Amino acid sequence: MCGIVGFTGRHEAAPILLEGLSKLEYRGYDSAGIAVRKGDTPVRIVKAKGRLKGLYEKTDSGKAMEGTCGIGHTRWATHGEPSENNAHPHCSDDMNVVAVHNGIIENYQELRDKLSRKGYTFYSQTDTEIVTKLVDYYYKKYNIGPIDAIAKTMVRVRGSYALAIMFKDYPGHIWVARKDSPMVIGVTDGECYVASDVPAMLSYTRNVYYIDNLEMADLGNGEVHFYNLDGDEVKKELTEITWDAEAAEKGGFEHFMMKEIHEQPKAIRDTFNSVVKDGRIDLSSVGLTDDIIKDISQVIIVACGSAYHTGMVDQYVMEEFARIPVRVELASEFRYRNPILNPNDLVVIVSQSGETADSLAALREAKAQGIRTLGIVNVVGSSIAREADNVFYTLAGPEIAVATTKAYSTQLICGYLLALQFAYVRGTMDEERYLSLIAEVASIPEKIEKIIEDKERLQFIAARLANSQDVFFIGRGIDYAISMEGSLKMKEISYIHSEAYAAGELKHGTISLIEDGTIVISVATQDDLYEKTKSNMVEVKSRGAFIVGITHYGNFEIENTANYSIYVPKLDTHFMASLAVVPLQLLGYYVSIGRGLDVDKPRNLAKSVTVE
Ligand code: GLU
Repeated sequence: MCGIVGFTGRHEAAPILLEGLSKLEYRGYDSAGIAVRKGDTPVRIVKAKGRLKGLYEKTDSGKAMEGTCGIGHTRWATHGEPSENNAHPHCSDDMNVVAVHNGIIENYQELRDKLSRKGYTFYSQTDTEIVTKLVDYYYKKYNIGPIDAIAKTMVRVRGSYALAIMFKDYPGHIWVARKDSPMVIGVTDGECYVASDVPAMLSYTRNVYYIDNLEMADLGNGEVHFYNLDGDEVKKELTEITWDAEAAEKGGFEHFMMKEIHEQPKAIRDTFNSVVKDGRIDLSSVGLTDDIIKDISQVIIVACGSAYHTGMVDQYVMEEFARIPVRVELASEFRYRNPILNPNDLVVIVSQSGETADSLAALREAKAQGIRTLGIVNVVGSSIAREADNVFYTLAGPEIAVATTKAYSTQLICGYLLALQFAYVRGTMDEERYLSLIAEVASIPEKIEKIIEDKERLQFIAARLANSQDVFFIGRGIDYAISMEGSLKMKEISYIHSEAYAAGELKHGTISLIEDGTIVISVATQDDLYEKTKSNMVEVKSRGAFIVGITHYGNFEIENTANYSIYVPKLDTHFMASLAVVPLQLLGYYVSIGRGLDVDKPRNLAKSVTVE
């Protein structure tokens, strides 16, 4: 979980590397560094702890480092504390090999012992220094070229990596290798780029290659050559990126998160229109035929974080509409539990980045058992998108803020449309209802626009929340799933302790935490459960809670119990998560800003979690 960049061409490398890193900073940011080389002079490495600003200062915005070939890294530490010493690039003692790495080398201790016996010493606590020195060891021991030395290393290490490497003997070249960590390569006009993600190179090129797992590449002289583990050259097709670099910029908003909240209506429309034609759902682009849908006996949704919360909503909606059993699992639990799967199951993996390490492992586990897999993924060409049998793309565009908003909202849409199609094809929903519910989903973007127009009103309650120690979210059914997401939004960007409870669970423990003035956000959009949730609101209110109620227009009765009410437009109750989540995203945003925090880059978190 970090960012890698590399450049070799005619231009000065350092400014390009720094700019690329700034586009990737959302991936991890406890330290950063670059290595640059001018012709065949020795490589120079500069590193700094903390935000990229430090590195900009130390290198005079790159001007202090001459050379047209280089690699760079922003680090999210896994092995060794965040420090300048542990920051990347790492190097062998004689600077023969210099490398940056994203991922984890699991058997690093064993390899460290082996290298120590061969006379190597170590200056950092990182697994990256070990892998760098292992490449150096094979290179020298067998007197082989970079590709063979890297291939030998790949066979020997366990874990995940995207590596970019420079060798002393090969000025102007960068070698890369990858396993289970993302990496893309760009070429244009005789110059080559490498990065963990497309936005880092988008201002220079739209022509990219996706390097596959266990492959290597040699970048130099404006060309890229790919190799498999045997060292044989592999041919690849260039892909043209069609989305706009502008889309990855803030476009007038102060923060990416606010921009992305505003982009939700468009993202939902695009996702909806990708599979709905003339008011009917057509999943042929996803590859799910009616026969496949009819044969499925159980759906298992596997995801992490917010994507898991969309799975919780899907479970309610799909079971209700299609009367098919749905399980929702946390990917990090699923993968180590030896799960019992049946041949007719469908495993649905939900991931914005398509690189989430645990979700990717869960996908592979399901595939190894011969089970059909469907990815709900935002990033085209990502590992999950490539490896799943079927892919339903969320068309949210690049999401930069660490706290997800538009990806979450589009994942929900995919879940609704799948549930509706399953219900219709399997005969649990008649045509009239099917068509009217599709029209209902089509109305969501416009309703979200209305909520966003009214956003300033939320600042009042955000100001009150900003000073609280704890916030509790309660709800039943789909409202419980929304509460989970609202709570996560609050805690991840405002650092206020928050918890979500199924409202009926309060009396089994949580209610003892309620004191005078404790804030309880009650999500109450489900009409059939309203009376029950209301009883829980009364229970906490009588113990001193300050209640913020979220419901739909028309249910003004809530004001009899809630101290403050937030209304969203009316919509079929099954799809209410799409509306109720928006004020919760906005609350999280305003509270974070009110507390003076960095809303787009909350501490300790990174956007794509490509480590376990
Ligand atoms: N495991 C490496 C380290 O701790 C790389 C972490 C990363 O992906 O940033 O330095």
